[in-house]
Amino acid sequence: MTTQDVMEQGEQYLLHTYNRYPLVLDHGQGVHLYDKDGKEYLDFCAGIAVFALGYNNPEFNQAVKAQVDKLIHCSNYFYNEPAVEAARKLVEASGMKKVFFTNSGGEAIEGALKTALRYAYDRDGANGHEIIAMRHSFHGRSLGALSVTGNDHYQEPFRPLIAGIRFADFNDLESVKSQVTEKTCAIILEPVQGEGGIYPATGEFLTGLRKLCDEKDILLIFDEIQCGMGRTGAMFACQRYGVLPDVMTVAKALGNGVPVGAFLCNEKASSLKAGDHGSTYGGNPLVGAAASKVLDLYQSLHILDNVKQVGAYLGQKLEELAGKYEKIVEHRGVGLIHGLEFSVPVGDIILECQKRGLILINAGSHILRFVPPLVITEKDVDDMLAILEPVLQEQA
Ligand SMILES: *Cc1c(COP(=O)(O)O)cnc(C)c1O
Repeated sequence: MTTQDVMEQGEQYLLHTYNRYPLVLDHGQGVHLYDKDGKEYLDFCAGIAVFALGYNNPEFNQAVKAQVDKLIHCSNYFYNEPAVEAARKLVEASGMKKVFFTNSGGEAIEGALKTALRYAYDRDGANGHEIIAMRHSFHGRSLGALSVTGNDHYQEPFRPLIAGIRFADFNDLESVKSQVTEKTCAIILEPVQGEGGIYPATGEFLTGLRKLCDEKDILLIFDEIQCGMGRTGAMFACQRYGVLPDVMTVAKALGNGVPVGAFLCNEKASSLKAGDHGSTYGGNPLVGAAASKVLDLYQSLHILDNVKQVGAYLGQKLEELAGKYEKIVEHRGVGLIHGLEFSVPVGDIILECQKRGLILINAGSHILRFVPPLVITEKDVDDMLAILEPVLQEQA
């Protein structure tokens, strides 16, 4: 098929739930992607914060291939070693106690919500518990995850969604407190809001929420699907604040492209019992081997050190850009998750960068998002700016 054929047949056969860019990606190497015609792109999207280790890491690929030849799937009626290993490494890295593997981020959120409802049911034997979520949050597209996603546009056609969800303002402890009732069973939030526009939480907010939850016997759920797995320079974003949740969700970078997510619970929140929850594929040997190898490679490749160093460099460069161009309203971010908010839509900037060999994405219509592979170097940042800046100059 030619590039044109793939795009045309893509529109013919794939449900049009995405307005796709006119690119057919074919293969990747390191921090570069190549389209079907061999054109190279520097990738600051990483499959939406997924490809932490970059493309075609030989050790990662080898681990996945070896597991394919051994055993891909066996169901959760049995134990399998790769998943147990991956779970142990996740527990050690997070300070949480138990892991349930899912196939996506949205499913990890579903599990976290069920954990909270089950916990509250055990607590007082009642139904009708409430969950507090944040405005401008994003937790996924399944009905439960959509119910706690603070975005009217995403929710509207699918209402009423699940009952008992109340929304509060991010980084506003009083706003959260005003939504607490005796029925509240959980507060869910991203320590760094991703899709909503790259808004890091303040330490005060997370510390305040932890205290509130402890006082009222409410579970604190941190969605670390985008901001976790090293992206902020700590293994999990909440560790930067010294605040641990009762339930944590992880996905995106966990499998470095192999579809795997997880929710992690502390002892108190290990409320789901045999028969309460399940997944046919969840935590099969293939994804177990992938996640396990990812966690090893974070150590051997010193990923966190690289994120801290290159992240600081990227942050400084973006701050400089923000000071230089009037259309840039604000720079926000930490580690290797950054946003540049513009006073105009950023779609044209993204398309023009693409033509010149740079892949960037947005977070909302006015925000450029930078979520590159975690193995990028300062030179890659310079290469990115060498494409982005002329585009900004021309469009300013
Ligand atoms: C991407 C994302 C999700 C949803 O993950 P899927 O794998 O797309 O279901 C949930 N929460 C956050 C913070 C995300 O960034």
